[in-house]
Amino acid sequence: MKNITVIGAGTMGNGIAHVFAMKNFNVSLVDISETALEKAIKTISRNLDRMVQKERITEADKTQTLANITTHTDMEKGVANSDLVVEAATENVDLKLKIFKQMDELAPANAILATNTSSISITKIAAVTNRPEKVIGMHFMNPVPVMKLVEVIRGYATSDDVTNNIMELSKTLGKVPVEVNDYPGFVANRILMPMINEAIYSLYESVAGVSEIDTVMKLGMAHPMGPLQLADFIGLDVCLSILKVLQDGFGNPKYAPCPLLVNMVTAGKLGRKSGEGFYSYAHGTKELVVASNFA
Ligand code: NAD
Repeated sequence: MKNITVIGAGTMGNGIAHVFAMKNFNVSLVDISETALEKAIKTISRNLDRMVQKERITEADKTQTLANITTHTDMEKGVANSDLVVEAATENVDLKLKIFKQMDELAPANAILATNTSSISITKIAAVTNRPEKVIGMHFMNPVPVMKLVEVIRGYATSDDVTNNIMELSKTLGKVPVEVNDYPGFVANRILMPMINEAIYSLYESVAGVSEIDTVMKLGMAHPMGPLQLADFIGLDVCLSILKVLQDGFGNPKYAPCPLLVNMVTAGKLGRKSGEGFYSYAHGTKELVVASNFA
């Protein structure tokens, strides 16, 4: 594999483009928004600068990495010579189905089509293509250049060859791939999201405050970040949509999102990206929000 296309240049897409370009793959980064593409290149450049400062790469490596990336707003041009497409567009099932139909028509017949979805069924996405055996989940973690794990998700029809290919490719990127099957939330979010939801319930039922809940989990369980801070980092809207996928997929009320989470998303309190969630980020720092907001 030499030519990689990344669809979506947001938080995850720019990180995925970064790690492939660092290993000298030719990367085509595609987004519907020119602004998102410009922002992605700036973010990659800034992250590479940080690596140069830490003497992990040279200035020449940075120049080469950026030279390995081209940007497109036209999907047809972006996927024309692709060996592998990694889709990292917005987490919306109808959007993903539309993109996969398009990619199936436009990408070379032997190209593998991967998705970075956090929760949407790989089998469902594969079913809208004429190559379900070549469709697979390649779930990177945020921030992509830092986090080692790639959850590799086999859909119902994904072939052994394609799975092995993606496992090996992930190792080439310096990552540790773990193969899992296609059930709601896969492994990462099936375990993480109920924990975050339970932390929100503990707050909602006044068992403890934000800082107390996060401190218990940080110091007691050696988690680098408490579950409420992590929810802010992921995005409360993203947490809510994954919990709904778990609830619908298993038909089990134990996954029902906490009413406080639903209220916060409705009120536009989405965590870091909106400036406030369980903490406030309005002044560039992480500050506690008044406790009565969580009643
Ligand atoms: P994001 O909102 O930061 O970026 C999404 C990008 O997709 C935007 O730039 C948008 O313009 C673009 N887009 C929308 N429609 C498009 C189209 N038709 N063609 C091309 N680009 C299009 O989202 P994100 O956080 O980077 O998430 C992307 C995917 O990665 C989602 O499936 C999400 O579930 C998954 N994911 C996110 C995280 C996380 O922590 N944010 C972690 C793991 C996986």
